[in-house]
Amino acid sequence: MTNKKKFTQSFTQQESIPELGIETAIEVMRSGRLHRYNTLPDELGETDLLEIEFAEYLGVPYCLACSSGGYALHIALRAAGIEHGELVLCNAFTLAPVAGAIHNSGGVPLLVESTDDYCIDLADLEAKAAPKDVRFLMLSHMRGHIVDMDRIMEICKEHGLFLIEDCAHTMGASWNGKKSGTFGDIACFSTQTYKHINSGEGGLLTCSDDQLMAKAIIHSGSYMLFENHQAAPSKAVFDQIRLDTPNYSGRMDNLRAAILRPQLADLDTQCGRWNARYEVLASALEKCKKITIPERVKEEQFVASSFQLSLFGSSPETMQKVVAECQERGVTLKWFGADEPQGYTSRYDSWQYIQDIPELSKTTLMLSTLLDMRIPLTFSLEDCSLIADIIIDVVETYA
Ligand SMILES: *Cc1c(COP(=O)(O)O)cnc(C)c1O
Repeated sequence: MTNKKKFTQSFTQQESIPELGIETAIEVMRSGRLHRYNTLPDELGETDLLEIEFAEYLGVPYCLACSSGGYALHIALRAAGIEHGELVLCNAFTLAPVAGAIHNSGGVPLLVESTDDYCIDLADLEAKAAPKDVRFLMLSHMRGHIVDMDRIMEICKEHGLFLIEDCAHTMGASWNGKKSGTFGDIACFSTQTYKHINSGEGGLLTCSDDQLMAKAIIHSGSYMLFENHQAAPSKAVFDQIRLDTPNYSGRMDNLRAAILRPQLADLDTQCGRWNARYEVLASALEKCKKITIPERVKEEQFVASSFQLSLFGSSPETMQKVVAECQERGVTLKWFGADEPQGYTSRYDSWQYIQDIPELSKTTLMLSTLLDMRIPLTFSLEDCSLIADIIIDVVETYA
């Protein structure tokens, strides 16, 4: 019998900004020096400090803070020297700004199939990476699901692919003890409200290569002020490229950096809190036979700021019914199978500016029974338990 329990909290309510971040942001506003290059002599601004601290956190030499994650992906390709019309391999299951960043850089997304556990399909990747003219892979660790990175690195090596990691959902995560974002040539992170640290909008680009970083910094809009950057290569590197690298203005400001720094200091603790919530949900939901939750291998040290499950074999009508009934009882699930893209879009066939979108039957099938749910840290473990009860109740009744 259904118990008709209801959940009443918002799935889009994040925690507030730490007090230290608020206080520092107020100081920045009082100072009037919000622009990252508007610093006193010998002063390190909040943006500089954020870059230093994030590079240190990741264990890489260089970091650039910029206006969004999508923007970081765009200049990553530019810094890597993409040419107009060049193909860029990317997950067919990703968020719209990824394909958009490729397009913005003059590239053309070459969509790669997905597996049932929401990762890039390695066989399809290998096939599509084989032609000599394919040079780039923009790999999304979509929804925090990390594909076998050892295989990815082998494929990149074998086919000479330049790897850009889209770590929008893996800030704080690792593969086999190595931090996500330290595998590729460049990594990009987002600090948009629903990611792991929140400044409303924002992005972080990291890498270890002198030339790439110097170009990314100039692209981001450093003018000839690049010497102010701390987590950056030496002046000599910039001198080789400073006049033939365009300014695609997209800097971060001191206000947002001030908000982010204390969150970064708390990141590992927050990741633990997300995973505790995931654990409550997963251990309850896996008892329902109609629900499939992907197995997570021991190498995959993920951060679960969202939860995904599949109702394999369910019809579109069933999926719609499950989503509607869960919503009725206060549980907001996202289904990517609807014909009309809604809200935050992740369906490759809604990016029709890409010419000749291939038929990707595995991805389409996977998306047709995938449900996605945010896990904001404003939910307690008891809340997660109630959410799981409601989902199971609805799935048992309708699926
Ligand atoms: C959020 C997100 C991005 C970039 O987001 P911005 O909103 O531009 O910061 C990139 N990839 C994925 C998978 C995302 O979810």
